[in-house]
Amino acid sequence: GHIECVVCGDKSSGKHYGQFTCEGCKSFFKRSVRRNLSYTCRANRNCPIDQHHRNQCQYCRLKKCLKVGMRREGIGISFVLQFFFTRCVLGFVWFSFFYYF
Ligand SMILES: [Zn+2]
Ligand SMILES: [Zn+2]
Repeated sequence: GHIECVVCGDKSSGKHYGQFTCEGCKSFFKRSVRRNLSYTCRANRNCPIDQHHRNQCQYCRLKKCLKVGMRREGIGISFVLQFFFTRCVLGFVWFSFFYYF
C-alpha cells in the first residue's frame, strides 16, 4: 500500500522536509516557511487537520506540520551546501588557472 501523509492522511508523494507528506502539505509548508507567514486560528488552535479539513485553518495545519517533525532547516541546509559547493568549484577553477599559467 501507499504511505500516508503524516499531516493530513492523504496519499504521500515521498519524503519532504524530513517527513512523508502529500504534495499539498509539502507546498503549504514550503510556502509558509519561505515567506515566513504567520497565521491565526479562528477557533481554539486544535482544528482537525485531515484530507478534507486541511485548508480550513492554516494556523493549525502549520502547527501540525511542525509537530509531526517537518523541519524548516532542510531548506537552509541545502542552501548552505549549495553555497559551499559553488565556492569549492570556483576555488578549484582558480587553482587550476594559476597552476597552468
Ligand atoms: Zn497532507
Ligand atoms: Zn485552527
